[in-house]
Amino acid sequence: MALREDQILRYSRQILLKDVGGRGQEALLEGGARLEGSGPAGLTAAAYLAAGGTPVAASEARLGPAAVGFLISEEDVGQPAAEVLGRVLPEVNPDAVHPQAGGRIAELPAAWNGEAPWVALGGDGTRGAVVFRGSQGCMWCFGETVRTLGSPPTGVLGVALGALGALAFQRLRLGMGPELGGRWLAAPGQVAELELRRCARCQVAR
Ligand SMILES: [Zn+2]
Repeated sequence: MALREDQILRYSRQILLKDVGGRGQEALLEGGARLEGSGPAGLTAAAYLAAGGTPVAASEARLGPAAVGFLISEEDVGQPAAEVLGRVLPEVNPDAVHPQAGGRIAELPAAWNGEAPWVALGGDGTRGAVVFRGSQGCMWCFGETVRTLGSPPTGVLGVALGALGALAFQRLRLGMGPELGGRWLAAPGQVAELELRRCARCQVAR
């Protein structure tokens, strides 16, 4: 696909980044993300992805009170995420609807299937955690790692985690490595390496 003139204007700041460019922006627009989750982390990730040009489809999970934020109002609580995001995301970016290709971003606990990129949003009760996997990353190591994590934080840390998760997703869509990894988020902006658990096969290969 070629970018239209209105899209070149809309994404000009991203297109000027050497890691994105016109080709990268086209890749973001062509690749979608399925969101599973209805908390601040998942919804923030959806907003950042949509604003950057990634089409987002949401799950039927109903929005809880913690979801209220810059996309979700008090009246939306109790409504399915898919319905509310289907209404508000086109206001963020009219390009960001009806994803064609797969890709998944989900709040833990979640089941994992379908095409990469996969981005898990979780936590350990204190910190937030992002675990990500591109198509070349081992899905079993990803599974071993996310299995040990709980649900993502809410509040400000959840919002920051969602932004970090969207960035991880976009980097994989742009073909930027690594293909498998994780990060802890102790406080907004305070990022540390999350050591991956290795599956039995990758342990032997080492
Ligand atoms: Zn492995």
